[in-house]
Amino acid sequence: MFELWITLKDIPAEGREFHFTDQSLWTGPMREYGLPVKPGKDFEARMFITPQDEGFLVAGSFSGSVFVPCDRCVEELEVPLAGDFESFEEPRAKEDDALDECRIRRGKGFLDLDVAGYLWEQFMLALPVSPLCAEDCKGLCPKCGVNRNQETCTCAQNEGDPRLAVLRNLKL
Ligand SMILES: [Zn+2]
Ligand SMILES: [Zn+2]
Repeated sequence: MFELWITLKDIPAEGREFHFTDQSLWTGPMREYGLPVKPGKDFEARMFITPQDEGFLVAGSFSGSVFVPCDRCVEELEVPLAGDFESFEEPRAKEDDALDECRIRRGKGFLDLDVAGYLWEQFMLALPVSPLCAEDCKGLCPKCGVNRNQETCTCAQNEGDPRLAVLRNLKL
């Protein structure tokens, strides 16, 4: 697992901006989780961290793009991904609070933010669930498997034959 932690201890009261361009932050988990996506345009993220009373305000944005298979015809398409984020992160209250999705680890002399985990979560939120190469993508023929955007197969013609439609209506 690719990890990147930044120390929060030295961040001044007015906050500090971080700029992340290491592609492993995105390509690492893509490979590790075996997602059907390929990196497109380089990713980058900006993160502004401001100390608060009980934790840290994390705000910023990221952008880049990936290639994913169309949900209907499996042709690859490029999907631009970008998003803004803002959240309040606080160190884990109790050591045994295992279910707490805490992005800050605290120990003797250190206080770190899990940047890799944070940015990956933003990536997953931005990723479309059912990407389409086009709104009207015709998809693959369920019978013979041809890409119906590129070819017309006889299966589709048979289904669409108006004379057969009349017969079907008679049966009903
Ligand atoms: Zn498609
Ligand atoms: Zn067909």
